[in-house]
Amino acid sequence: MANPNNWFRSGLHHIWLPYAQMKTIPDPAPVSRTQGALLELADGRQLIDGVGSWWTSVHGYNHPTLLDAARAQLETMPHVMLGGLAHEQAYKLATRLSDITPGDLDKTFFTESGSVAVEVAMKIAVQYYMNLTGERRTRFLSFKGGYHGDTFATMSVCDPDEGMHSLFAGVVPEQYVTDLPINPEQQEAFDRLLSQQKDIAAVLVEPLIQGAGGMRMHSEDTLRFMRAACDRHGVLLIFDEIFTGFGRTGEMFAATRATVPPDIMCVGKALTGGITPLAATIASRKVYEAFHTDSSENALMHGPTFTGHAVGCAVANAGLDLFEREPRLSQVRSIEQQLSKELMPVKELPLVNRVQVCGAVAAVELSTDFNVEKARRWFIDRGAFIRPLGRVVYLTPAFVIKPDQLRALTSVIADFAQHADQLS
Ligand SMILES: *Cc1c(COP(=O)(O)O)cnc(C)c1O
Repeated sequence: MANPNNWFRSGLHHIWLPYAQMKTIPDPAPVSRTQGALLELADGRQLIDGVGSWWTSVHGYNHPTLLDAARAQLETMPHVMLGGLAHEQAYKLATRLSDITPGDLDKTFFTESGSVAVEVAMKIAVQYYMNLTGERRTRFLSFKGGYHGDTFATMSVCDPDEGMHSLFAGVVPEQYVTDLPINPEQQEAFDRLLSQQKDIAAVLVEPLIQGAGGMRMHSEDTLRFMRAACDRHGVLLIFDEIFTGFGRTGEMFAATRATVPPDIMCVGKALTGGITPLAATIASRKVYEAFHTDSSENALMHGPTFTGHAVGCAVANAGLDLFEREPRLSQVRSIEQQLSKELMPVKELPLVNRVQVCGAVAAVELSTDFNVEKARRWFIDRGAFIRPLGRVVYLTPAFVIKPDQLRALTSVIADFAQHADQLS
């Protein structure tokens, strides 16, 4: 196993990698094992992980509680389908999600990826009005800088450039993608759109932090404004908490931190601590009521093969145990303090535009372009795995990262901020 050359070199000819021009991308770094906040490369080097495998591994890699839960479930019953059969872990998880989510979010539909969880939320929103009043509200209002997935419906509600709206014009449905209602003019424009466009079923937002769009943060007041405007105009509010959910902002959900309950919430990513794919769409009782009738036509027609996967749900339940038993949220608050203390001074450097911190997320936006792949290698050479989004160098570490490990990451970012212009 020490020599990765066989599987790696031959596999590179056959694997099609995410978001990659296969002809020109530099080789990815082969990893042989993981532990806590560490990645061990096939050549024996250790990297401190600043990303957490697309923000999933909040409890650190290989947490024994999660591994035990997966093993135990695998041995008794890897999975049975939820059509006509039932298993404990999915039912238990649905109950627990209802308990920990804010407001009257109460009914959980399980999927296997975040994109599909958002698709289900969109389907629910459209059908909600059909069931309730027969109205055909078929479009969505979402935001520039937003990211909600890579399937066709979710691409349509992403940032128009990132979602490749022009490349896929005519294939991707047209939506209203606008500025976040942060200042008074934007709020007025947002309000006007909702009052004029009667085909809008729901507003869809990543609350507090737009993740993939570059870790852009907005305030709790912005969410409060949205909630009030949606209520005023009778439009549903969907929170895509696939990134922000499960402690990332310092509370269990961004909705909890902002004390703004949505009508529908999507979760994924950290739900299983990065061990298996699992996502969920959680609807409020009000939304669910519109489906809960004597007519079969009012039912939600959706059913992924692996909905409520038993191993995934068992691991997710064990992850919720960890949030109860271990001081996760106070760890996030300590991380927030340390990130602020160590990265806010970086703002003074000439190549730095902006530094933002929220919970266990830090984003340092540079004023210069640099080659992201060269940057990735620059960080690896200094013992860190950090993968910038455009001009934004960010950290989303595991919540169990040790203070000295985090300090190593922030100081390598401070160092990078002085050299980024040499990596074009
Ligand atoms: C990652 C992400 C998604 C998509 O989830 P996948 O599991 O990759 O399909 C959707 N919304 C947000 C906010 C995300 O961060």
